[in-house]
Amino acid sequence: MATVITEECINCGACEPECPNTAIYEGGAQWELNGATTPAIKDDLYYIVPDKCTECVGFFDQEQCAAVCPVDCCIPDPNIPETDEVLIERARVLHPDQTFGAEYPSRFRKG
Ligand code: SF4
Ligand code: SF4
Repeated sequence: MATVITEECINCGACEPECPNTAIYEGGAQWELNGATTPAIKDDLYYIVPDKCTECVGFFDQEQCAAVCPVDCCIPDPNIPETDEVLIERARVLHPDQTFGAEYPSRFRKG
């Protein structure tokens, strides 16, 4: 699942710089991918672009936005269930210059 920010967000901004995929944007800010900009998904609260979120798969074994959020409002989106395989493939597409070995970090492999 891509991670989603719920309505509990207090707009503290702590999550945005932690994302390895620049998937988090301030409310009202346009999001960007491959040089193309797209209108904001939310105007009033921080939001995550599902197509850019890998649930940190490929980089960390825990979602970094969730780890720093003071009100625990970064949660797996129940409407977008995605597998480890889908998420690492997204990481590869988002970061073509990077190599992800067989032992890439993933929250699905924890424990
Ligand atoms: Fe970014 Fe990871 Fe949060 Fe997704 S789960 S928005 S990749 S920090
Ligand atoms: Fe909102 Fe949590 Fe991000 Fe702060 S860290 S902007 S409360 S989602």
